[in-house]
Amino acid sequence: MSLVASSDAMYRLLVQSVMDYAIYLLTPEGLIANWNLGAQRAKGYEASEVIGQHYSIFYSQADRDAGKPAANLEQVRRTGRLEDHGWRVRKDGSLMRAHVVIEAVRDDNGVLVGFAKITRDCTEQYYAELARREHERHFRLLVQGVQDYAIYMLDTGGHVINWNAGAQRAKGYTADEIVGQHFSVFYTPQDRALGLPEQGLETARREGRFQAQGIRQRKDGSHFWTSVVIEAIHDEDNGQFIGFAKITRDISEQHRYELQLLQAKELAEQYSQEMSNLSQFLDSVISNIPACVVVQDLASGKVLLANNHADRLFCGEAGHLIGGLPRECALPITGEFLEEQLARGARAAHGYAAQTCVQTAIGPRTLRSRALLAQNAGGRADYVLFIAEDATDELAAQAQIHHMAHHDALTGLPNRMLFNQRLKKALAQGEQCGKLTATLCLDLDNFKNINDSFGHAFGDKLLRALGTRLRNELREADTLARLGGDEFAVVLAELDNPEAACCTAQRLIDVICPPFQIEGHQFSVGVSIGIAYAPHDQDNAEQLLSFADMALYEAKRNGRNRYECFHAGLHAEAHRRRLVETELRAALHLGQLQLHYQPIVDVQSNLITGYEALLRWEHPSRGMIMPMDFIPIAEETGIIHEIGARVLNLACQEAATWEGQETVSVNLSAVQFKNAGLVRTVTLALSDSGLAPQRLELEITESVLLGNNEQNVHILRELKSMGVAIALDDFGTGYSSLGYLRSFPFDRIKIDKSFVHDMCESAQAMSIIRAITELSTSLMIKTTAEGVESIEQMQRLAAEGCSHVQGYLYGQPEPASARLKKIGKSAGD
Ligand code: C2E
Ligand code: MG
Ligand code: MG
Repeated sequence: MSLVASSDAMYRLLVQSVMDYAIYLLTPEGLIANWNLGAQRAKGYEASEVIGQHYSIFYSQADRDAGKPAANLEQVRRTGRLEDHGWRVRKDGSLMRAHVVIEAVRDDNGVLVGFAKITRDCTEQYYAELARREHERHFRLLVQGVQDYAIYMLDTGGHVINWNAGAQRAKGYTADEIVGQHFSVFYTPQDRALGLPEQGLETARREGRFQAQGIRQRKDGSHFWTSVVIEAIHDEDNGQFIGFAKITRDISEQHRYELQLLQAKELAEQYSQEMSNLSQFLDSVISNIPACVVVQDLASGKVLLANNHADRLFCGEAGHLIGGLPRECALPITGEFLEEQLARGARAAHGYAAQTCVQTAIGPRTLRSRALLAQNAGGRADYVLFIAEDATDELAAQAQIHHMAHHDALTGLPNRMLFNQRLKKALAQGEQCGKLTATLCLDLDNFKNINDSFGHAFGDKLLRALGTRLRNELREADTLARLGGDEFAVVLAELDNPEAACCTAQRLIDVICPPFQIEGHQFSVGVSIGIAYAPHDQDNAEQLLSFADMALYEAKRNGRNRYECFHAGLHAEAHRRRLVETELRAALHLGQLQLHYQPIVDVQSNLITGYEALLRWEHPSRGMIMPMDFIPIAEETGIIHEIGARVLNLACQEAATWEGQETVSVNLSAVQFKNAGLVRTVTLALSDSGLAPQRLELEITESVLLGNNEQNVHILRELKSMGVAIALDDFGTGYSSLGYLRSFPFDRIKIDKSFVHDMCESAQAMSIIRAITELSTSLMIKTTAEGVESIEQMQRLAAEGCSHVQGYLYGQPEPASARLKKIGKSAGD
């Protein structure tokens, strides 16, 4: 077989076995000349059935009617080839979408010998394509029509490729304006600066999808909250990355709702937290409130709420009120009380308040309670609320305060306020029953010195002991009060006669007499008492007390440790004292106070060695007033400081003018030592006058040293160190004691004139003088005997070794101008 023949055979074989293509030849008339397997498969005919038939059998009746088979062949005859897509009919009548190629076959001379026809059954592809197109069309319509979503595509670089209605609606750009632009224009400048657009694309490229929410910018610059999805798109066929699909949805409103929802949720949580806190707080308030709180259900009578306090008070430690009836849960006695209070509260229109002393589980307590109906929101009363405050301690404190306000803290005795009340009450009662009321004013003799010397704590003990003794001596109905300091007062009510008060006063004096034992010391104190009666003296409480005070002053004046009753004279006396006080102030300024000088004579030489300055008040109407009549008043009122300074200045100034070198003795009151400026006053008097300190002698009495008064001793030392001499005046009259002589190195002791006066008659006075002179001699202290009026006295004193004498025998106190210069002559006369 030739190559051509063999290849021809092979070709035929190939054509005949091709299954996917119907390949066959037509005669120039269009009759089927051969038939391959592909044709059989496509059209359903076997070769024997179709060979020799016109190929138009494959056309539909309509195509055949339209002459399409012939027209096609005609076209091939003319053009040599035809390619067509169209519907053909299979043997079984079914339609087949065919891709038809018909080519003219000519011989070497160009004469048409037939047609080669290749038909491919594309029905499946056709339908698939049709479906695809339809799908795409729908999709496009869908995408373009979607209003709520901005759906568009980006190229691989992020430039907008297409644009739907939703995108236009959301972002404001038309397709013309935005296609080709980079999609980052939708981002805010800040997000652009952060590189968010690129990051989104990068994530989508890397992970296939990027999803986020954020703020985007519209064409007009306004912002909206958006949900964005970017998906990377790859070619379905070759998998090549071709860009991004971007779906953006304006969720501003949703976002706003979400935010509002979130806020609402937070608010609700906060509110619920607050509510829960509040409720916890209320629980804790109720359980910790320092009061009993009980709520009773009106219908059932059961306790709905009771705090710890209520349980503790009404049930004791283990019990609980909640859930039961008060009488069942509480202790019997408290349950009864509680039920009664609740019942009263339920009945009373405006609640029921009470203060009751109740036997509770913790003992007797005074409860200040209130029970009332509690209404619900509808105004109906469902509950009874009982609140009780334990007022026991408060009342006790009030009682304590009341007691404190009316009693003296130190002695526990009534104070001035309560005393006044009791006095007024006693006066009223006395008036009613026609009986006497007496007021006693008590003052301790020299208490001040004891206090100053031994300290306040010591003084306090003494006052307490004293209070006890006095109180025991009185009737229950009598009032003993401490008015302050060492001042006590007594109200004796409903007396039958004045003597009863005098008896009581004497008893009080007597009971104080025995020495007190305090801190190992034995102490005797005296008490002076003044008595005034109502209605005899006065029926006004204040006046009565002031009258008793006047009587007290009198008792002290009359020698202390005694009582005096008020009488009109005392009132006059008190009046006089007040007058003196005022006049004394004036006298000081008017120069009515003068000094008289009395000589002090040396027993050995019989010469005047000094003068004692003694104060006189030249009263314009009452004549000369002696010191004893105004010095005590000056001391009481404090004018003594001014008077004392005046005396010092005057004495120094006058003495400085004397020709001789006599000393000048100035009396200092104990009160003057209370003035811190005493040393300075003396210094100034000396420096102003130019008097040598050695010419000044200061006379003090024992009272300055009473109780080892360290401060006064210190002042004395200072004065002495200046060169001033210190004399102890009126020695032997006070509490005396030789002990004083040890406490300070005196320059002189002045023996009181009472001993000199008695010395010739009284051996006792004589022996006291002797003791003083002996001691003074041994201590090398000068002695001056005061009040020497007779030569006998002078001689005896001289015999006892007394160094100096002073008295009328040598001269009366006289003004400086008239003072005697030569003693010997007048004394001898
Ligand atoms: P004193 O210091 O003991 O003064 C002596 C008193 O005895 C003086 O009384 C004087 O006049 C009086 N006297 C003198 N010689 C005799 C006599 O022979 N017989 C009698 N019976 N009496 C005589 P006076 O002047 O009435 O002074 C009384 C007291 O007043 C003084 O007693 C003194 O304690 C006080 N006193 C006088 N002047 C002052 C003063 O300037 N300041 C202070 N604080 N007290 C003064
Ligand atoms: Mg004197
Ligand atoms: Mg004297």
